[in-house]
Amino acid sequence: IYDFFTGHELNPRIGSFDLKYFCELRPGLIGWVVVNLAMLLAEMKIHNLSMPSLSMILVNSFQLLYVVDALWNEEAVLTTMDITHDGFGFMLAFGDLVWVPFVYSLQAFYLVGHPTVISWPVAAAITIVNCIGYYIFRSANSQKNNFRRNPADPKLANLKFIPTATGKGLLVTGWWGFVRHPNYLGDIIMALAWSLPCGFNHILPYFYVIYFICLLVHREARDEHHCKQKYGLAWERYCQRVPYRIFPYIY
Ligand code: NDP
Repeated sequence: IYDFFTGHELNPRIGSFDLKYFCELRPGLIGWVVVNLAMLLAEMKIHNLSMPSLSMILVNSFQLLYVVDALWNEEAVLTTMDITHDGFGFMLAFGDLVWVPFVYSLQAFYLVGHPTVISWPVAAAITIVNCIGYYIFRSANSQKNNFRRNPADPKLANLKFIPTATGKGLLVTGWWGFVRHPNYLGDIIMALAWSLPCGFNHILPYFYVIYFICLLVHREARDEHHCKQKYGLAWERYCQRVPYRIFPYIY
């Protein structure tokens, strides 16, 4: 049962077709955008609008940016835990193909039944929150991905790292010197920005951000465990240099 859930095979393939790599990015993420778009059209049709509400435009645009970014930086998925560590079992298959398109579109779904009016200044403030989250998320992920692909890259020459017995280094400056999972921090800030356009009348649009914090805190603990086993003393030195896991000065 455990193997079925977490996956026995790390990278199951049919010939050169990698099932997990495909499912991680294409059907679920593109499906999510399609469901969001359907919600946008439903809102216009049901409420007889000539254009979608500002809230709906924000939710659709923020999440479209996230999906386009993932597809644009497709190769960055190769250094994520899903690809390098987790097997392709029910958890990932269901997550990629069902959970992502049908649960991550909850905010757009909510707006169809609960029209929410926000002003332009509020929309601008929420957009700034999303941009800050996106900037942290993208630069942290790119920094780690580029460093893993080519630690000698001249563009990374200003970054310091701790050498480990495995030959891989652990970045201790830049985003990875700020907190131990800066990419999670950026992702959580964006998740909040996706909920805010729905107002504060209902908990449903906030399901994603609450669930996501739980997921990433648990995921961070799993990664911490692996890294401790993999890097031993070097990881302990890293934790001393960078004491906070996700949220600076909090956790
Ligand atoms: P990460 O991309 O954070 O990868 C963790 C790995 O990075 C570690 O195992 C280690 O691997 C390496 N690493 C850790 N610290 C350092 C360091 N200081 N210097 C260099 N390398 C380091 O993990 P995830 O796969 O969890 O996340 C990838 C992205 O996907 C994140 O932005 C996350 O927010 C997002 N995500 C989104 C989800 C969603 O549903 N929207 C779900 C899950 C994740 P090694 O040393 O072996 O290279």
